[in-house]
Parts: sequence; C-alpha cells; structure tokens
Amino acid sequence: MLKVGNLAAKPGEKVFGYLETAQSRSGMRLDIPVHLIAGAQPGPTLMLQGAIHGAEVIGSIAILDFVAKADPSAIRGNIIAVPVVNRAGFELGERGSRVDAKDISRLFPGKADGSVSDQTAYIYFKETIAQADVMIDYHAGARTAYERYVLFSAEDDPNKPTRIEKIRRKLVVAFGLDQAAFFPPGTFGANTAKKAIEDANTCQITLEFGGGTGWYKNGEDNVRDAERGIWNVMIAMDMFDGEMKSDGPLCTVYNAGVVIWKPAVDGLFIRDRKFKDELKAGDSYGRLVDPYTGELLAEMPTPKDGIVIPSGQEWPTVGATSIGILGTIDRVEDRRTMDMSISFD
Ligand SMILES: [Zn+2]
Repeated sequence: MLKVGNLAAKPGEKVFGYLETAQSRSGMRLDIPVHLIAGAQPGPTLMLQGAIHGAEVIGSIAILDFVAKADPSAIRGNIIAVPVVNRAGFELGERGSRVDAKDISRLFPGKADGSVSDQTAYIYFKETIAQADVMIDYHAGARTAYERYVLFSAEDDPNKPTRIEKIRRKLVVAFGLDQAAFFPPGTFGANTAKKAIEDANTCQITLEFGGGTGWYKNGEDNVRDAERGIWNVMIAMDMFDGEMKSDGPLCTVYNAGVVIWKPAVDGLFIRDRKFKDELKAGDSYGRLVDPYTGELLAEMPTPKDGIVIPSGQEWPTVGATSIGILGTIDRVEDRRTMDMSISFD
C-alpha cells in the first residue's frame, strides 16, 4: 500500500488528493496536490517534484502529461507525483512563498513548529521525499530562460562515490539530455536541505528546463523531453519495460566551478557571452547597466578560465546572487557503453 498523509493507493491504483500541510495564521490552507500511482508489481519508489519554485512550470506540465499516460498495471513500484509544491508562489508567479518569504527547497527536513513554509517542508519531506528512492526535481527559467540540463550535487570525494552517488551518476545520463553540470562542494555555501535528502537515502537529480518569457512558444520540446526523462529513469530503475530515448549517445558533464557573482549594485545585466564560449581569466563576461539611463554600472570580468555553461539570459539583478556560471568539461559519458541499470536490492 502506497501512503502519503491521508491518501493511499493499493497496487494497481491511481489516486489523487491533497496532502494536508500547514495553514497561515489567518487560516489560508496551502495543501499540496499529490498523484499516487501504485504499480501492480513491487519495486522502488520514484518521486516527481514540480514547481517547488512557484514560477518554474515546465516540469509541472510534464508531470501532469506523465500521470495521464501512466498505467499502473505496466509499472513495478510506486510513483509519488507532485505537479506544484509551492502553491503560494505558483499562484503569484513567484519563486518563493510570499506568505513568509521563504524558499521551501532550502528548508528540508523542515520544522514541525516553524513558520508556514517550515511546517510545509516538514510534513511534505516526511511524507513524500523521505519515502522515495529517487527524486526528479524540476526547475526551469521563469522570467529567465535557461539552457536545459541535468544539475546535480557534487561529490565530496569523486574517487570514493557513495551508494547514492553511484546511482546518481547513472540517473544523470539515463535522463536523456546531452548535458549535465555539477557544482563542486561548497560553491554556494552549506546546503542543509541537500544533506537531509541524502540522509533519507533519497537520490535527487535536479532539472533546469528552459523557461523564459517565450517558454510557451519554445516550450513544447522541453515539456516533451522533461516527460521523456521520467520514462527513461523508470526504465533504468527497472520500473517499466521500454527503450530509452535521448538527445543522442553522449552526455557532456561540466564541473561548474566558476561563479560570476552579482556586483554590489543592482541593475540590468547584459550578458555578452553565449553558451560554450571559451573564456580566459579577465575576459569580459557581461556588464551591468542602469536600466533607465543605460549608464555602465559594473563590468563583469571572468575570474578564471572556463567555458560558459548553461545559465540564464539578461535579467534585472534584484534578488540574484550569481550572474553566470563557467565550468570545465569533467567527462563525456557514452550511453552506448554505459550500464545505466540501477538496482535497489
Ligand atoms: Zn528553481
């Protein structure tokens, strides 16, 4: 029996309902929509997470498309699918939650007695993420367009991968995109949420998937490939019989180790570089201009040699921490020779 909060699905069933989480002090409820798909045969548990950042909706559409097609009788194991985690952000087209100005994705394992987002994170984490073997976590550009890529956490010691890391190395490639990137440990400071997910024995991969103001016009391929990745991961996890489809045989994995931080002033960022441009230390990456007068506010030189890897287009920098990411090619994986099958015994 697959159970999330008060919801339950018997083998072979699909169930939809809301996970009761928390309410604001005036009583507004922000319960989380959950689809349960209990496969007819036993197997591992896969979790699909959309819009934990409320304005990032490519994955939400892919998850709904997947749920509509998924036939429990053809599935081994369980699927917990959440199209929109952050409903407050989603309703307002915002990344975080205006209810308490927090980002749920950074709060795991949450707090039973904290603010609305702390409580939401606590219940949601315990009921969904903690019981999954694998989580596919969808992000996307909102106003900002992203290249699409698999993003994953760095290994503390790449020569001694943990059990979770060994699974993740396969999932990153199995998902089917032609590129992936990881940040070396500590690039963005400590991440307690990531540690909580690892401590729960859940293997997380994150997707950055297009977006931008033209996302609908250019988004159909992204939605299709975001859904394709779910089926690929299920095949790798032996939850579904089928043939993997991908962008091609190769997946380039970038070490995203060079961050171009936001200057001390805010303004309109104009990036002068394109994806895959090779830069030397000191080369200009872009400039920050006054959005009203056009005056140059700051130059943004590249701190180290690197290749421009997938990152956003120009946007106002209010609220941003980093402006650009450069990296080096860590490895190129070949799907024709790599064993992508994952065992959970
Ligand atoms: Zn995001």
